[in-house]
Amino acid sequence: MEQNNEMTIIFDSRSCNEGFARVAVAAFCTQLNPTLEEVADIKTAISEAITNAIIHGYDNQVKKITITCRTENRILYVAVKDEGKGIPDIAKAMEPMFTTRPELERSGMGFAFMEAFMDQVEVESDVGKGTIVRMQKKIGNPQPPFI
Ligand code: ATP
Ligand code: MG
Repeated sequence: MEQNNEMTIIFDSRSCNEGFARVAVAAFCTQLNPTLEEVADIKTAISEAITNAIIHGYDNQVKKITITCRTENRILYVAVKDEGKGIPDIAKAMEPMFTTRPELERSGMGFAFMEAFMDQVEVESDVGKGTIVRMQKKIGNPQPPFI
């Protein structure tokens, strides 16, 4: 029987840390025996949130990103936080194909992917203070115990 568990990582908002951070989250959730597909979904959603913090939140300046993960009753809760510029209109930002950076060839699909791959996505943001993206996903069925 899995125990409830929690971890926090804080790292520089450099794109080279994106791969490390998504693997850290994936490794943390292995205690819930996720399927390969569930792990891939979680990694994709985390990547999108981290990329957003780096390029939109911090405009590529190097500051800190905090990821907190918690597992409780087979649900993974993840929060990705930056202390960057914030989002003025969250509902608009979350619309598929909305982007404020078309010149960077962004397609405006990051939040849509997060919503597709996770069970729930909630965004809290204050202009000038930063953004927290909270996501959750229920992880498959527990493996039967060996007898
Ligand atoms: P894509 O993710 O497809 O490359 P995108 O990043 O523009 O493009 P979304 O990830 O859906 O698309 O984000 C939509 C918009 O929300 C962004 O263009 C940006 O204006 C805003 N946004 C998202 N995350 C943040 C953040 N952490 N801080 C500030 N603004 C953000
Ligand atoms: Mg994005």
